Amino acid sequence: MEKKRYERPYIIKMNTGLMNKFGTRSDNEPVTHIESVPVKSLISDYGSPLFVISEKQIRRNYQNATRIFKMRYPKIQFAWSYKTNYMNAVCRIFHQEGSWGEVVSGFEYDKALGNGVPGNKIIFNGPNKSDEDLIKASKNDSLIHIDHYDELYSLIRLSEEINLKPRVAIRVNMDTGIYPKWDRFGFNFENGQAWNALTRIINSDNLELVGIHCHIGTFMLSADAYAIAARNLCELAWSVKERFGKMVQYIDLGGGFPSSNTLKGAYLPGSDTIPSIDQFADSITDVILGYGFKQDELPLLILETGRALIDDAAFLLGTVLATKRLSDGRRATIMDFGLNSLFTSLWYDHKISPAQKLGNQTEEMVMFGPLCMNIDVVRESITMPMLQKGDQVVVHKVGAYNMTQWMQFITLRPNIVLIDNDNKTHIIRKAENLLYIQELEEVPEHLK
Ligand SMILES: *Cc1c(COP(=O)(O)O)cnc(C)c1O
Repeated sequence: MEKKRYERPYIIKMNTGLMNKFGTRSDNEPVTHIESVPVKSLISDYGSPLFVISEKQIRRNYQNATRIFKMRYPKIQFAWSYKTNYMNAVCRIFHQEGSWGEVVSGFEYDKALGNGVPGNKIIFNGPNKSDEDLIKASKNDSLIHIDHYDELYSLIRLSEEINLKPRVAIRVNMDTGIYPKWDRFGFNFENGQAWNALTRIINSDNLELVGIHCHIGTFMLSADAYAIAARNLCELAWSVKERFGKMVQYIDLGGGFPSSNTLKGAYLPGSDTIPSIDQFADSITDVILGYGFKQDELPLLILETGRALIDDAAFLLGTVLATKRLSDGRRATIMDFGLNSLFTSLWYDHKISPAQKLGNQTEEMVMFGPLCMNIDVVRESITMPMLQKGDQVVVHKVGAYNMTQWMQFITLRPNIVLIDNDNKTHIIRKAENLLYIQELEEVPEHLK
């Protein structure tokens, strides 16, 4: 018989089953399956920690968002934001569904090409495009979204040299009532910079103006901000039409819709408070449809939605390494994942569920990661059943920005598994090993 684990007794106030103003707590229900695959078998087959992604959920999210916009506006195109999650398998699901690619670096650009996205369906954003990147994107007929004057002038010079006429848009920044203002990317709307850049493009023989772009922020909680953004882009498009007799082909409103995660410090859970995609779609399409464009010259509406389409499709499974009492009496639970794998724990209070049935008694605890680093805190305070060494948990809604911003610090990054539409599991990124991490290192001769 296994010896029972001993834990030093400690007197605390009980809070089991207490009502709060929203009723009894129910968020400690165990989550034993993802799709229909048992969490326990995922961990025993692929290790812990482990990222698990549901293909079904990705497709559901994509189809739902497309339907919402298509019901309201005739010409819609989504472009998958690579930096939100650029696992090739994930990108390919979006591309299969019909999404273009939206990239912000030469590395991401090459990844999109590698995933079979035709050059003319890649949107190249961001302030960091080298001359080589610009030439490659021009030759592939990609959509180059110019971020600043230096890039504009480089592109004019390069396109003369290579004798091509790249298709371009400008990124516009503006005051949408959201602070702090995002004015470090693109050309400013209010001070006339954006209009100035547009006229320079039109007056250049070497560039073809095809669109106008903005990306006003991320995890935006205000649908009104998108109405302002849409109005400003329409105004620019209208001015181009009036002044130059040329209608731009598209308006690109970027990404930024929130997922249903709960931001740190929020009083109510995100799933109860964030606006739905329908509300954003209403705000945007009402403005464009009402602006006065003729039906046959309505611009294509491009959306670069990232987070809202992927966050709830991924889970992080993890295991309790140890529990301890801190010097002030608080319970601490140490997990085998921390900031290194769950970068978004800096912004979110993720929902965390036990992966097995535990007792009814709950206690407030600090949840630490495994790193030897003081800031490695998954949650400053979470009320959960009394987790013990070896217990497993499921962290919800981790699909956005974790698998791209994760850190290789002290430990190796874990496996990522995709559960396909038939509930079969596939490793889509192998756990790292020492060889992989050291592959690029070199030891000088005299240190060998
Ligand atoms: C990051 C980014 C996106 C995606 O943003 P989400 O907040 O994930 O929707 C879209 N467009 C641009 C230009 C970006 O930088």
